Amino acid sequence: MNAREETPQVKQKTVIDFRKPFNAPQEQPWLARVTDNPITDAFPESIDIHPGLDASPVLPTELPSVLNRLTEQPRKRRTVAYINVPYCETRCLYCLFYIKPYRTKEESAAYADTLIKEMQLWADKPVQNKEPVHAVYFGGGTPTALEASDIRRVLEAVRKYLPLANDCEITYEGRLSGFGDDKMEAAIEGGANRFSLGVQTFDTKVRQAVGRRSSKEELIQRLTRLMSYNQAAVVIDLIYGFPYQTLETWLEDLQISKDLGLDGVDCYQLRVFERSPLHKYIANGKLPAGPDHAMRARMFREAVFNMREAGWNRLSISHWASNTRERNFYNYLSFPEIG
Ligand code: SF4
Repeated sequence: MNAREETPQVKQKTVIDFRKPFNAPQEQPWLARVTDNPITDAFPESIDIHPGLDASPVLPTELPSVLNRLTEQPRKRRTVAYINVPYCETRCLYCLFYIKPYRTKEESAAYADTLIKEMQLWADKPVQNKEPVHAVYFGGGTPTALEASDIRRVLEAVRKYLPLANDCEITYEGRLSGFGDDKMEAAIEGGANRFSLGVQTFDTKVRQAVGRRSSKEELIQRLTRLMSYNQAAVVIDLIYGFPYQTLETWLEDLQISKDLGLDGVDCYQLRVFERSPLHKYIANGKLPAGPDHAMRARMFREAVFNMREAGWNRLSISHWASNTRERNFYNYLSFPEIG
């Protein structure tokens, strides 16, 4: 056998022309297109807010046996516990996470009682007590809607009934409207070591147009107060793409975030979902459409450059930390592919 015969045959590779439009037959849409302006052209506009989770439905008749089997098994991986608080003071026009309005103190107390009972229910089951929990996330809705005494009670119950790791991240999410000193102190005393707050934009006109309540000055005052306790990471969400939002207001949002000395910032692109009130407002001409795709891309690029220049550490596509107090455990453990 000569050398030529010994050489294995190399298969012809499929060559993809990345410069063709996305609907070109040979192109695969999950691959980036090579262009001079990748931030707007590399992919079509995204449509999902979360990656899919690995799950399958269970028939109602099978539920008791499936639950029984699962609760007897210790967890195998690092774990997050997510607790949903379904209330909001008011509905923001763009939001699909809205569930129900917050009305009375009795509602808050009843919710806290039920949640605590639920944590007690499996407290002696291997699925709950065998392995440590590494992150707890109170999301919603708006967990800050609960009364101060109930915030304290549910956090104490988390520490009592869940086997928290010593370095467990406990995030309390919410909005700054109505988040007074009493609630902040209850959350801190209860053990929250991270706050994730939906600011969206500091610009008063832009935020109030989409149903947010506080003014820029109120937000800055409340954030400054929360950080003055120096007990927990303070992280905010910013969103680009709102009606009336401009590059100038967005740059101001980034500047204020940096000036405040926050521990972390998320910068999300607004998605105007068809089922959202905002979609109807824009369709009916009650509000103008927000910045176009090219401008939103520019806004994202400004976020990347601004945070990099300020020396912030980029923890995921859309999340930055100014220091090591912000660890972003919950998101990292829930969606490791974004980290
Ligand atoms: S407060 Fe948060 S969850 Fe409630 S409607 Fe507004 S954005 Fe949605």
